[in-house]
Amino acid sequence: MAVGKKRLADYGLQSERVLWPDKGPSEFEQELGDIESQLGLTTLEKAIAWSQTRSMWPDTFGLACCAIEMMSIVSSRYDIARFGMEAFRSSPRQADLLIISGRVAQKMAAPIKQIYDQMLEPKWVIAMGACASSGGMFNNYAVVQSVDKIIPVDIYVPGCPPRPEALMEGIIRLHERVQAGVPSAYEVGGVAK
Ligand code: SF4
Repeated sequence: MAVGKKRLADYGLQSERVLWPDKGPSEFEQELGDIESQLGLTTLEKAIAWSQTRSMWPDTFGLACCAIEMMSIVSSRYDIARFGMEAFRSSPRQADLLIISGRVAQKMAAPIKQIYDQMLEPKWVIAMGACASSGGMFNNYAVVQSVDKIIPVDIYVPGCPPRPEALMEGIIRLHERVQAGVPSAYEVGGVAK
């Protein structure tokens, strides 16, 4: 579990030697480093957050050219299975990650909202590519100028199209957020006005 490195005094150890003001970290402290991860201590909340990042199943959902890049993340080259995420679910009721990969036509706004509403909590959303994030080059009445106008978004991945590595970066950033206890966009609520 990623926790900032602290001195033993910061963890409440009150020995005279540890509290020596001008003494740096001892050998013991240096070896221990992050005491929480070294000793295997954690909280139930952190354990749940960790397990959520190792079983975050994406919904099978693609909109345009970006979806081709998204599909490749299950290949051996990018290997999303290392996070336990290779099972793209065909039902939103079995998925907790929605990757919006491509431009969102006005016609698709209602189905996307319905799919999102059918997903169980907790749930997260990644806006993949310029079109999903901002409408991209399609600055016209037919395309929603960012999916965050209809559903809350956790992570935006830039690019046209983003390479699979960029999507992986977005997924890893999302995992870091979950493990750090940052509430999902769904919990924070609200969409862009
Ligand atoms: S961002 Fe580029 S690649 Fe992705 S859907 Fe838009 S035009 Fe296609």
